[in-house]
Amino acid sequence: MFKALMLHEADGGKVEIRFEDLELARLPEGDVLVEVDYSTLNYKDGLVLKGLGKLVRTYPHVPGVDFAGTVAESGHPDFKPGDRVVLNGWRVGELHWGGYAQMARVKGDWLVPLPAALTTHQAMAIGTAGYTSMLSVMALQAHGIDPGSGPILVTGAAGGVGSVAVAILARLGYRVAAVTGRPEAQAYLTDLGATEIVARDELADPPSRPLDKERWAGCIDAVGGSMLARVLTQMQYRGAVAAVGLAGGSELNTTVIPFLLRGVNLLGIDSVMCPRAEREVAWQRLATDLPLDKLAEMEVDATLTDLPHLAGEILQGQVRGRVVVDLKA
Ligand code: NAP
Repeated sequence: MFKALMLHEADGGKVEIRFEDLELARLPEGDVLVEVDYSTLNYKDGLVLKGLGKLVRTYPHVPGVDFAGTVAESGHPDFKPGDRVVLNGWRVGELHWGGYAQMARVKGDWLVPLPAALTTHQAMAIGTAGYTSMLSVMALQAHGIDPGSGPILVTGAAGGVGSVAVAILARLGYRVAAVTGRPEAQAYLTDLGATEIVARDELADPPSRPLDKERWAGCIDAVGGSMLARVLTQMQYRGAVAAVGLAGGSELNTTVIPFLLRGVNLLGIDSVMCPRAEREVAWQRLATDLPLDKLAEMEVDATLTDLPHLAGEILQGQVRGRVVVDLKA
């Protein structure tokens, strides 16, 4: 038997959270059985836990879009019992049962070997948010943006994606401007390596003209909506924005002028279906490019029973840094 957080369908399209003991035979099909050490909480998990976003098709359901743990059984050629692995995305926690349980059965093709330098706890302090931040940094670098290009703006900076992005960029020698709506997070962000703090209000309103003063060589944007539209008008010539999130809205009302007159690029970042080879590079780079002492400052430890409460907080933008859910607790 193992413990799991289960979602059941309740009246009126709502979901009910129950904590249950399950037999291994209840797990879905897959060629690798993993003993889960840690999972985490992402914005998407908040939606699933609240029954929002129509992400789950079938109940009962185990949420948790990512986990790290140890292989218990494997029918996959790349994995054997005892291997430490990490999983992000592939619609695990949405269409397939996820990481909010002590055991998970998944396709081996979805797993990435955990770099030796990282513990399973650190892997989930990084989580999908941190892995997506790394994909965003890699996209900006592939576009030719280096520390000499100019400052990089990170929006939603005190959140999971933003916090890790700030720490990686600072470690790589970039100047980082962090946008936050929480004045109390300033010291936290400066400590992670931000050299400039931009108040959310400064960039919250839609742009009033197609081009503004050139300020940013690159941007990692976790917010979307009018903030992204505004940032596009402030990009330097040939700058690029990695569009990662929609914490502030999914609409984008802009003009093509920044693309045409300044050669600005908008780079889409998808962590969910990202090919395995690119994931492996991202995880290897997280082991070297993310200062692990900074990671420790971002962590908030939690257990399965904290999740119903934390789900509401993450949807309201109240969670700072990275929540690590201990499945052994
Ligand atoms: P998070 O921890 O909740 O962080 C989001 C941050 O955005 C908040 O901490 C807040 O930062 C800011 N924010 C919230 N509401 C806002 C609003 N109305 N206007 C402006 N800023 C707002 O979430 P996360 O895990 O970092 O994820 C961030 C976004 O990335 C989410 O939309 C998530 O769905 C998306 N995401 C996408 C991928 C992908 O594959 N593309 C992967 C992971 C996550 P401050 O308090 O500092 O202002």
